[in-house]
Amino acid sequence: MDLLAPVPRTHLFGADLHPALLDLVHLSEEVLGLGAHAVVLRAVLRRASRTSSPCRSQRTSILRRSRDDVVSPRRATFEAFLAGQQSLGPVPLFKTSRDLFECLERFGPFCEPRARLVFRQLVDAMAYLHAHNLCHNDIKDENLILSDSLHLKVIDFGSAGPANVPLHGSLGTDAYNSPESLRSNDHACPRDEDPTAPPCKYCFDPVKSEMWALGTVLYVMLNVDLPFDSAQDVLYSPHFRPYRAQVSEKAKLLLSRLLRRDPKLRWGLAEVKASGWMNATR
Ligand SMILES: [Zn+2]
Repeated sequence: MDLLAPVPRTHLFGADLHPALLDLVHLSEEVLGLGAHAVVLRAVLRRASRTSSPCRSQRTSILRRSRDDVVSPRRATFEAFLAGQQSLGPVPLFKTSRDLFECLERFGPFCEPRARLVFRQLVDAMAYLHAHNLCHNDIKDENLILSDSLHLKVIDFGSAGPANVPLHGSLGTDAYNSPESLRSNDHACPRDEDPTAPPCKYCFDPVKSEMWALGTVLYVMLNVDLPFDSAQDVLYSPHFRPYRAQVSEKAKLLLSRLLRRDPKLRWGLAEVKASGWMNATR
């Protein structure tokens, strides 16, 4: 796809993005890339804070879905992801940058100090979003852009939504989806028919679900492979894939707490921040 082609006005339509996200950022008309179902636009934080900025340049990027996708945002997100594999151009967020998936493919697993440097930034970014009552809902290696100096930016906010409203149905990609989100796909939710209905027993907390994705990102940084082979394994396998020999006990402890099937037992961001691995110096 020609990235320099003019963007049809009908594609510049962000009504399906959550209003809380639009409160947080101002969408510019600067096009960073095009996909089959999406336009990537530059967005700028509205309230620049000197003390709590995961995006030090006060900029982030956002995936804005096209008008056609509003009909079925969940499906559209998945299709945009698939389309992105082939047609989404390079996102020039840094002078030289690549996503975490490319980094791992090219350079292999990260050593723990390097993984920690990236992971701390991701935890800060998630804490920032959660403090604004937002969940990204599609945290994965391909949505994490790294500069040469390992400065992290989180991209693709097309699935972002409120952090305090239970979800039903997975939004991201299976490899990073939590067990409870995958399980909910097999059950209808009364809220699909009546948004005022109370959450059903398969509705889940998006914050805890995102912690599973965080654990998957850490596992992938240290091992390159995913912790589970398939969605079925995420749901039922008694163990995740064995660690590489070099992975430290502190990292294993953190991973085992993040990749817990029971979301009630899964660690939250506060526990992650206080963990031995996060606070290790080497
Ligand atoms: Zn439900």
